[in-house]
Amino acid sequence: MASQLMSAPTAPRRLEGKVAIITGGASGIGECTAKLFVHHGAKVVIADIQDDLGQALCATALGGPINSLYVHCDVTEESQIKAAVEAAVKAFGKLDIMMNNAGIADPSKPRIIDNQKEDFERVISVNVTGVFLGIKHAAQAMIPVKTGSIISTASLASYVGGSASHAYTCSKHAVVGLTKNAAVELGQFGIRVNCLSPFAMVTPLATRFVGLEGEEFETAMNSMANLKGVTLRTEDVANAALFLASDESRYVSGHNLLIDGGFGITNPNIKIFEYPEN
Ligand code: NAD
Repeated sequence: MASQLMSAPTAPRRLEGKVAIITGGASGIGECTAKLFVHHGAKVVIADIQDDLGQALCATALGGPINSLYVHCDVTEESQIKAAVEAAVKAFGKLDIMMNNAGIADPSKPRIIDNQKEDFERVISVNVTGVFLGIKHAAQAMIPVKTGSIISTASLASYVGGSASHAYTCSKHAVVGLTKNAAVELGQFGIRVNCLSPFAMVTPLATRFVGLEGEEFETAMNSMANLKGVTLRTEDVANAALFLASDESRYVSGHNLLIDGGFGITNPNIKIFEYPEN
């Protein structure tokens, strides 16, 4: 990880002095992003429901209470999101970056007639209501200071049908809608709102969903990928989040940044020229 994530020791720290909340930050993409943000000088609040994991992460890899804070936060509970934002402001003085990253996937039942309403609503509650609440309460802290960057983790399923369950696909499309609507409204306050849409990578959520682990998972995904010779990892999403969180993207808002190696713009019916020597 170090080689892909960490820049040279003399390179400027791109989030110096900034304060971030990362929901779902105890594991996977959120954990990796938290480490990168701290490496770049940010103070990070991990808001998750996996308390032991989150606390251990803050105490070790995130450098303890000077750089990080863990708060128990179920993103479906408005009072807990509100409290997480208040805890960030109390501990570190402000909120510059909100990453709405917590998410769940239900087992894919290809036939809609087999899908259960309860499963559908559970996914929507975490993946959509959680993002809505995250944007709402981050905006509350950011509007008075007229700056901020809100980033939500969407997915390949935000723009391609058939890659995940009905609930998950629907939820990630909704994240793009929320991103656009909030970007339009909050632009007047200098607040940027964007989302990230990655292809598949090894994390607890994805390996559970696909039913494969580690290298087996990556081999299966690479065989479907458009971009060859590269395996998508959590570091790639963290680097994209770093860009959107930093001032380098200061004029980027309302954007759904695809991290899919061109997968979403391909169509298997299109015949590409294959290089015989390749
Ligand atoms: P992960 O399971 O490693 O992380 C998800 C985190 O969200 C966990 O720490 C979990 O405890 C937390 N979480 C779940 N429900 C919560 C709730 N109600 N409140 C607070 N936290 C909650 O999986 P990941 O792959 O890192 O997922 C992060 C995001 O990335 C999700 O939104 C997911 O949909 C998205 N995503 C993942 C992939 C992939 O291939 N891994 C691809 C595209 C998008």
